[in-house]
Amino acid sequence: ILGHGQPNRSVITTCAYCGVGCSFRAELQGDEVVRMTPHKDGGANEGHSCVKGRFAWGYATHADRILSPMIRETTNAPWREVSWDEAISYAAERLKAIQTEHGTGAIGGITSSRCTNEEVYAVQKMVRAAFHNNNVDTCARVCHSPTGYGLKNTFGTSAGTQDFKSVAKADVILVVGANPTDAHPVFASRMKRRLRQGAKLIVIDPRRIDLVRSPHVEAAHHLPLRPGTNVAVINAIAHTIVTEGLVDEAFVAERCETPSFDRWKEFIALAENSPEALEDVTGVPAEDIRAAARLYATGGNGAIYYGLGVTEHSQGSSMVMGLANLAMATGNIGREGVGVNPLRGQNNVQGSCDMGSFPHELPGYRHISDAAVRGEFEAHWQASLDPEPGLRIPNMFAAALDGSFRGLFVQGEDIAQSDPNTLHVSAALQAMECVIVQDLFLNETAAFAHVFFPGTSFLEKDGTFTNAERRINRVRPIKPPLQGMHEWETVARLARAMGYEMGWPDGAAIMDEIAALTPTFAGVSFEKLDSGKSIQWPCNDATPDGTPVMHASGFVRGKGQFMLTRYVPTEEKTNRRYPLILTTGRILSQYNVGAQTRRTKNSMWHGEDVLEIHSHDADIRGISDGDLVSLGSRIGATTIRAVISDRMPQGVVYTTFHHPESGANVVTTELSDWATNCPEYKVTAVQVTLANMP
Ligand code: SF4
Repeated sequence: ILGHGQPNRSVITTCAYCGVGCSFRAELQGDEVVRMTPHKDGGANEGHSCVKGRFAWGYATHADRILSPMIRETTNAPWREVSWDEAISYAAERLKAIQTEHGTGAIGGITSSRCTNEEVYAVQKMVRAAFHNNNVDTCARVCHSPTGYGLKNTFGTSAGTQDFKSVAKADVILVVGANPTDAHPVFASRMKRRLRQGAKLIVIDPRRIDLVRSPHVEAAHHLPLRPGTNVAVINAIAHTIVTEGLVDEAFVAERCETPSFDRWKEFIALAENSPEALEDVTGVPAEDIRAAARLYATGGNGAIYYGLGVTEHSQGSSMVMGLANLAMATGNIGREGVGVNPLRGQNNVQGSCDMGSFPHELPGYRHISDAAVRGEFEAHWQASLDPEPGLRIPNMFAAALDGSFRGLFVQGEDIAQSDPNTLHVSAALQAMECVIVQDLFLNETAAFAHVFFPGTSFLEKDGTFTNAERRINRVRPIKPPLQGMHEWETVARLARAMGYEMGWPDGAAIMDEIAALTPTFAGVSFEKLDSGKSIQWPCNDATPDGTPVMHASGFVRGKGQFMLTRYVPTEEKTNRRYPLILTTGRILSQYNVGAQTRRTKNSMWHGEDVLEIHSHDADIRGISDGDLVSLGSRIGATTIRAVISDRMPQGVVYTTFHHPESGANVVTTELSDWATNCPEYKVTAVQVTLANMP
C-alpha cells in the first residue's frame, strides 16, 4: 500500500473520490507518493480520511495507464500511437467533416464530475464557442440533475444549503436514500458523532443500512419504503405536519411565497396524501410515518441529508422539491443545524454543474436564452452563442440512433458502463462517426472510440474541485502531466484546430476567467485559495470569505417557493415474470465504475459485485449464499453472485456497479426523471434464478 522510502517533501491536495472533498498531504520522495495523510486543516475533513482517499491513489501510475494519444479509422482497427499534433488535428478534421455534412448540431461533448472546475469549464466553452452549439451535458445528468432542478425551483440555487460542520448543531437528522457510511465515510463519522451526542435519526431507505443500527447509533425511525414510492412517503410526512398543525407559520409568512404555500397546503392536506391512504403504496405503517413527521417537525433543528436514492427515480425532481417543501414548512432552513443537503457522489459533481455543463445553462446556472447573460459571455469569449438549449445525454444517444448526432467528446467518464441500458448506449456509440475519449485508461467507452486523448490523474492536475458543501478546494500537482499536457490544454488545442482561438497560460488564468463571468465565484482565485483555506461559494464582494450557510436572511430567489409534488407511480412494474425490484448503490472500498479503485492494490478490495437478496426470496428460488445467479430484466440479463442479506426487505434485491464483468446497467432501464432525464437506476423489475437454470 505504501510507496517506498521516506518522504522528503509534501504537497497539499484534494481527494479524487467522493463529494466530501477531503484535503490530503501527499508525502513524496522525489516525484513518487510515499503516503497520503489527511490534512488537519482540511475544511471538509479536519484531519480524517477513509480507506479510498488514504490508500487508493496507486492507479495514478498503474501499468494500464495510457500515456500517448491514439487514433484509429474504425473501432475494429487497432489503435495507433501518434503525436499530440496528429491526434488533435485528426479529431478536429473528423468533427468538422461531420458538421459540414450533417450540420452544426451533429456533435457535442460530455463533461466529467471527476475533472477539475477548470477542465470542465474548458470543455463547455469549447462546445459552445468552437462547436457552435449547446450540446454539452455532464455525468451529473445521471446522478444529481434533479437536485439542480428541485433546489433551484424552491430555493433559487442548485446547491446544498449547509456546510458539513453544521451537522453538529442538528437535533434531528433525516437521511433519505443515502448510505453515508459507504459512500461519504468521513461525513458519516461526523454525523455519527452528533448522533452519539443524542441527536435523533430518521432513515428513509428500503435497505436496513448501517446507520439504522450500528455501534452506539440507532435510528429512532426507519421507514423501509417500497422502491419508487419516495414521493408518496414525503407527501404523507408533509400531510401529517400540515393536518396536525405543525407548520412553522411565522417562518412561512416571512420567508416564503404565500400563494405557493397556500396551494401546496391545500394539495398536501388532501386525504389521498395521508399516511393511512398511502400505507399500501409505500409499505410503511402509517403510524411510523406520523411519528417520524412529528419528530422532524418538533424535535428542534431538523437537517436533511439525501443521496441518489432520492434523485435516481422517475420522480427524482419531485422528491427533491418535496424535501425542500418540508424544510420550508417547518422553518428548517437558513441557520446552522438545519437545511437540505445533497450528498454528491463524485468529487466534483457540484463543480461540474456550477461550470455550465448543462445544455441550457451557462456557468453559474444562468439560462442560455437570457440575452443579457449570453451577451456577457459573447463579449468575453469573442464568440457568437446559440440561444437554444442543446441536447441532454439521453437525447444525444437517441439522435445518434436516428443519424442526426455523429460526433462526441467524452471527458473522463465511462458512459458505456455507468449509463443505464448498456445495449442502448453501446448501439448509440457504435452509430457515431467520431467518438473522442479523454481518460486515464482504455475504459469501456473507449471500445467505441476513434480518438483517445490520455488524461491526467489528480496528482498531476492544477485546479480546483467543489465538494458537496460548495467548498472550492485546491487540487495541486505533485509533478507535471505524465502524458505531457494538461487536459484543459488538450481541449483548448482541439478548439483552436476547430477554428476558435482559445487558451490560457495556466489553471489560475482559467479560474480568473470563471470568476470574471460567474457572480457566485467573483471573489475566487488560486491566489486567494493558496493564501488561505478553501472557500464555499457564493464568494464575492458581499461575502468575500464565502458562505457556509445559504438562505440565511432570504432565499436566493427572494422568497421560498413551495412546489406541488403529486405522487405518480413509476412505469416500471413487477409482474409474475419479473417479481423483484432491483435497486443499486455503492460499497465503501470501491468508487463508481471502479476504474480507479480496481487499479489499486489492496487486500481488502472486493473482487466482484454481488447481489444482496432476502433469505425468503432466495429460499423459494433454491438459491444459497454464494451461488451464481442470473439477474434478468425486460432490458437484459447478467450473471452475478448472490449474498443472502437480512438488510434487504422481501421483494427487493440490491447490487453495485463497480465491475464491468457483472455490468449491473445491462439490466437497468431508460425510464427517467420527468424533469431532468436522470435515469431511474433505483427501480428495475427483475427475476433472479440460479445461473444456467431455465
Ligand atoms: Fe476521499 Fe470521500 Fe474518503 Fe474523503 S470520504 S477520503 S473525499 S473518498
